[in-house]
Amino acid sequence: MESLFGDQDFLDKNSGNNFADIILPVPIPRMFTYRIPSALKSEIQIGLRVIVQFGKKKVLTGIIGKVHNKPPQAYDAKPILDILDSEPSVNPLQIRFWVWMAEYYFCHIGEVMFAALPSGLRLSSESKIQVNPNFDPDTSKYPLDIREEKILEALENQAELSYEDCEKILGIKTIHPIIKSLVAKEAILIFEKVQDKYTPKVETRIRLVPEIAKDKNALQAVFEAVQGKPKQESILLKFLRDIPVFQRPELNEKGLDKATLLEEGDSESSLKTLIKNGVFESFKQIVNRIEEVEAERKAYALSSSQQAAFDEIKGHFETKQTVLLHGVTGSGKTEIYIQLIEEVIDSGSQVLLLLPEIALTTQIVGRLKQVFGSKMGVFHSKYSDNERVEVWNGVLSGRFPFVVGVRSSIFLPFDSLGLVIIDEEHEPSNKQFDPAPRFHARDAAIMLAYFHQAKTLLGSATPSFESYSNASQGKYGYVSLDHRFGDATLPEFHLANLSADRKKNLLKLDSTRLLREKIQQALDQQQQVLIFQNRRGYSPYVQCEDCGWTGQCVQCDVSLTYHQFAEELRCHYCGYKEKIPQSCPACGSTQLSLEGMGTERIEESLSLLFPEARLGRMDLDTTRNKHGYQRILDEFAAGQIDILVGTQMITKGLDFGNVSVVGIWDGDRILNFPDFRSGERAFQQITQVAGRAGRREVKGQVIIQSRKPENEVFENIIRGDYLEYFRQEMMDRKKYYYPPYVKLIKITTRHTDFKTAEKAAHALHHQMAKIPIKKIVLGPEKGVIARIKNQYQLESLIKLEKSGVTQSVFKENLTRIIEELQAVPDFRSVRWVVDVDPS
Ligand code: ADP
Ligand code: ZN
Ligand code: ZN
Repeated sequence: MESLFGDQDFLDKNSGNNFADIILPVPIPRMFTYRIPSALKSEIQIGLRVIVQFGKKKVLTGIIGKVHNKPPQAYDAKPILDILDSEPSVNPLQIRFWVWMAEYYFCHIGEVMFAALPSGLRLSSESKIQVNPNFDPDTSKYPLDIREEKILEALENQAELSYEDCEKILGIKTIHPIIKSLVAKEAILIFEKVQDKYTPKVETRIRLVPEIAKDKNALQAVFEAVQGKPKQESILLKFLRDIPVFQRPELNEKGLDKATLLEEGDSESSLKTLIKNGVFESFKQIVNRIEEVEAERKAYALSSSQQAAFDEIKGHFETKQTVLLHGVTGSGKTEIYIQLIEEVIDSGSQVLLLLPEIALTTQIVGRLKQVFGSKMGVFHSKYSDNERVEVWNGVLSGRFPFVVGVRSSIFLPFDSLGLVIIDEEHEPSNKQFDPAPRFHARDAAIMLAYFHQAKTLLGSATPSFESYSNASQGKYGYVSLDHRFGDATLPEFHLANLSADRKKNLLKLDSTRLLREKIQQALDQQQQVLIFQNRRGYSPYVQCEDCGWTGQCVQCDVSLTYHQFAEELRCHYCGYKEKIPQSCPACGSTQLSLEGMGTERIEESLSLLFPEARLGRMDLDTTRNKHGYQRILDEFAAGQIDILVGTQMITKGLDFGNVSVVGIWDGDRILNFPDFRSGERAFQQITQVAGRAGRREVKGQVIIQSRKPENEVFENIIRGDYLEYFRQEMMDRKKYYYPPYVKLIKITTRHTDFKTAEKAAHALHHQMAKIPIKKIVLGPEKGVIARIKNQYQLESLIKLEKSGVTQSVFKENLTRIIEELQAVPDFRSVRWVVDVDPS
C-alpha cells in the first residue's frame, strides 16, 4: 500500500538521485528511465549492470547510463529490480563516449554498446520462467489445463525453469504455445538469465611431490624404481632438465605445464602412472592467454630532425589538443611515437596507438614489443573473444598502460588516457562501413581523447584533406618531417607509357619495356621487387567472346570474379560461388575468355617473363588463414622471394631494406575510383606504395604504368608536391560542395522489392525537403551496386553546412521522419541505413 504522501522515493531529495537511465539491448534509439528503489540507492553507480522489467512480460539486463532526478513525462517509471555487479563494467567516460557516438553517427545506443563490449563480456541471456508472484490459482479468472498445471507444479520445487526443462517435463517438442498461454494467464513471468561468457584459460601443471623434491635420496629411489621402464624414466629426465629442483625449489613449486612436459612425444599414460605412484602431482592453474614478453631494447636516440619534430609536437600540445605529424615515408615517425608513449606512461597515464588492420602491420607491432614488452597490449581484429576479454581486463587492471590496436580498440575501458596516436590517419579503413555504429576511428578517437582531456597525434605521409585543412586553419598543430631517416633518400619515379609500347609492339603480357628492364636490373643485383595492383573494381572475370555474356551473382548486381586456384567464379560481396562453365550459358559458344587482370594473373605473367625469379603473392586469397600474412612476410624478409605481387596489403607499413623497385601495374585504375575522393586516394595510394622502395642504402625506383601518363596527378605525385595537389583539389571540393567544406550524410533505402524501395526513398526525400535548414539533397539513385544479397538499394546524399546546430536539427528531424515512415504499412520492412561522413 502506498503511503498518503506517495512513494517515499519521490520526497527524499537529499539522498541524491531517484532515477536512472538504462541502456538496453533493444533496437530503439534511446535510453529508458527507471526508478531507483531506496534499498538500492547507496549502491547505484553509472556503468553497473542491472535487471529491469521491459514491457509487460520481459525482464532485461542493461547498463546504467545516467542517474538524475527528472521523472519521465510520458510514463510511470518502473523500479530497477536488482543490481548484478559490485563494480561497474564500464566507466562513466565510456558511457559519455557511447552517447556521443550514438548521437553523432545516428545509431542506437544499444548498437554502440553491442560494438563496444567484447562478446565475451556481453550479456548473453537465456530465457527462463518463474512463477508470477501475483498469481493465485484459486482466484484466477483463467483455468489452467493439465499441462500448464504440471509446469506450475514443477515451479513449486524449482524457482526457475528453462524452456528445455519444460520440454522435458512434458515430454514434448514445442513448448512455446504453452508458455505463451501461461504468460497470458498471468501465471508465470519470463526473464533472461545472464551469464558471463568469458572462460579463463586453465592449464594442467605437473610438479614433483614435496617429499621427493626436498630429498635427494628419495629421488634416487624413484630412479631405481623406474629402472627398466624407459618411458617413465624419459619423463622424469625431461622434467629435471627443465626444472632443477634442488637448485631452484621455487620452480618446482610453480610446476611445469603438462603440454610442455610431453612435447617431445612422451606418453601420457606413463605420466599418469608416475602420478598414481606418488612421484608427481598435477594441479590446475588459470593462465594468461596473452603471453608475457620482456622488453629487449631501449628506444633509439632520435636524430636531430626527429628531435626537432618531437619538441615541436610537445610545444603544440601546450595549446592544442591535436597535432598532425606529416612525415614522408621512412622519416622515422614510429620512433617519435615511441618516445612520446614512454613519457606518457611514465607519467602514469594511458596511451592508445591506432593502426589500420593490425594483422597487416605485424612489423611495427614487433618493433613496439621490443621496447614496451609486457606493458603493451595488442588488440587484433583476428583475436578470439577470450583474448579480447583479456586485453580488456588488462586495461582495467593496469597490466597494459599502453595498447596498440585496430579501430575497435577505442572502446577499451581506459580511465586516464594521456595520449591517443592515430598512425596512417588518412586510411579509408579507419571508417567502419557495416554494421552500425558507422564511425570513423580517427574522428571518434579525437573525441575520446577530448573526453579524457588527452592529446591526439595524427600521423601520415599523405594526410587526409580533412586533417590537413584543419591544420592549415590552425585548429591542429602541424609538424612536418620532409626527409627520410639516415642516409635513405626518397625514391625516383618513372612513368611507363602503356599505349606507346603497345603501338611499338613492346608490350609483353601487359608489361612495358621500362618495367621489365628495371625488374631485371633489380634481380641482377639481388635486390627485391614489389608489384602493386589495385584490387578495387578490378578483378578478372569470364566473358563470352561471341555474345558478351559475363557471370553474374544471383543475389547481387555484380559480376563474378574468376579464381584460378579453385576454378571458380565468386561474388566478392556475398560469397556466392559457382564452377566455371564449359560453354557460354547464354549462347553455347565455347569461346570464353578472361578479362581484367588480378594479382593471380600478374603473378603468372611475371613467372613467364622472369622464369628464374622466385615469386610470391599477397592478397586476400593467400592470407586467408591466420598465419598466411606472416609467413609471406617472413619469406620476403629472409630473401626467399624476389618479386612480391600484392594488393593494398603490401603498401601498409612494410619496412624492408632490400626493396629497390616498386612497380605499379595499372596506374590509371587507381585514378578511376568512383568518388569525389578519387584524386586524394590516388595520391595517397601511390605515395604509400612508392614509399616501400629504397628505405635503406639502395636507391628506390618506382615505375608507374599508365595509358595516360600526362595526367597531372602523376606530375604532383612525382614531384612529391602534396601542397600543390591539395590546393588544386580543394578548389574543386569547394566548387562542388564536398567535404571538408560541407558535412555529408548518406542514407540508403533497402528493400527486396525494387518498386517499394523506390517509393520509400522518394517518400523520404519528400519529407526531408520540409526540414527548415540549408541543405542540398541528391538522389535517390541506384547504389554503386544496385542490389546486394537480394536487397535493392537506393542512395540519397545530403550535404549540410558545417555547423553543429544545422546538423542536430537535421538529425532530430530525420529520426522523426524515419519513425513516421516506418509506421506506414507498405514500408514496414524497408530498412534505412544512415551513414554520417561516408568515405
Ligand atoms: P615511418 O614510420 O616514418 O615510415 P620508420 O619509423 O619506419 O619510418 O623509420 C624508418 C626506418 O628507420 C626504420 O627501419 C627505423 O627502425 C629506422 N629509424 C628511424 N629512426 C631511427 C633512430 N632514431 N635510430 C635508429 N633507427 C631509426
Ligand atoms: Zn555467349
Ligand atoms: Zn553476391
